[in-house]
Amino acid sequence: MEKKKKGEDKNMGKVAIYPGSFDPITYGHIDIVERSLEIFDKVIIAIAENADKRSLFSVQERLQMVKTIFKDTPNVLADNFKGLLVDYVAKTNAKVIIRGLRATSDFEYEFHMASMNRSLNTHLDTLFMMTSKDYFFVSSRTIKEVARLGGGVEGLVPDLVVRRLKEKFKLPVKKKKQISWDD
Ligand code: ADP
Repeated sequence: MEKKKKGEDKNMGKVAIYPGSFDPITYGHIDIVERSLEIFDKVIIAIAENADKRSLFSVQERLQMVKTIFKDTPNVLADNFKGLLVDYVAKTNAKVIIRGLRATSDFEYEFHMASMNRSLNTHLDTLFMMTSKDYFFVSSRTIKEVARLGGGVEGLVPDLVVRRLKEKFKLPVKKKKQISWDD
């Protein structure tokens, strides 16, 4: 009898890994997850622990936000991983990595990463999804910049993330300076 390989168990369904920093998760990410669920039975959001990248939220904070946001969606799981993505994927029964593309500028980096991952594991494919028109300008980085400066990011990230950003960037409440024309 032929030995079953990881990912060949039909009962487990089609699983995809959606890796990234998710620092923090945005509606751009959530849109990609929701669309992936039309293709896959299960999506694992895999938060990369990257020591080189300075993150605003700790891995545990990011994980907690993702888990809370998807608490009513049992086919979306959240996890974190260290090291090579291909090694992490090999421990699951997924054969596909999902990535989102916002602009042509994303393409070159993503193309290199997907090619490298395929050369490290030939059974692995990367599926790219084009951003939706509502979120093409949304990135975790710009969300953090705007929130830090006190701008509104409602509608671009879930309310929970809006609250967490406000907590992180808590600025001292300044008393309104009275402008007097007599000064
Ligand atoms: P990175 O791994 O570069 O830190 P992120 O964690 O921000 O990336 O995002 C993970 C994945 O989600 C990447 O493939 C990124 O291109 C994609 N992504 C991020 N924001 C959006 C968006 N607004 N629309 C579509 N895809 C997105």
